[in-house]
Amino acid sequence: MLFKNKLWGITMAQQFAKKLYNSARWKRCRAAYIAKVYGICERCGEPGYIVHHKVVLNSRNIDDYWVTLNHSNLELLCVECHNKEHMSEGAATVEGTMFDSSGQLVRCE
Ligand SMILES: [Zn+2]
Ligand SMILES: [Zn+2]
Repeated sequence: MLFKNKLWGITMAQQFAKKLYNSARWKRCRAAYIAKVYGICERCGEPGYIVHHKVVLNSRNIDDYWVTLNHSNLELLCVECHNKEHMSEGAATVEGTMFDSSGQLVRCE
């Protein structure tokens, strides 16, 4: 399936989460969660791509697996619903970051 990347800014504070997103543990957890919810956005029913953390990650809980790898703290969202979720936080965003097709945060070239 072709997936068009859309720009999505992240807060400076979310940069630290890269370590988590690059870890094998997270990739396994993420894949298992997506399978569990059938790859469907839990808000609108469209195909979901991004596993969102309900308790937003920060530098204090990033090493806490109860937060980062706990299925009950995860929600599968499509790009649009994920954007809405984070826009509603009114977070300051950083230009130059985006999600790739697997939902990982990457820098735009
Ligand atoms: Zn959605
Ligand atoms: Zn999120």
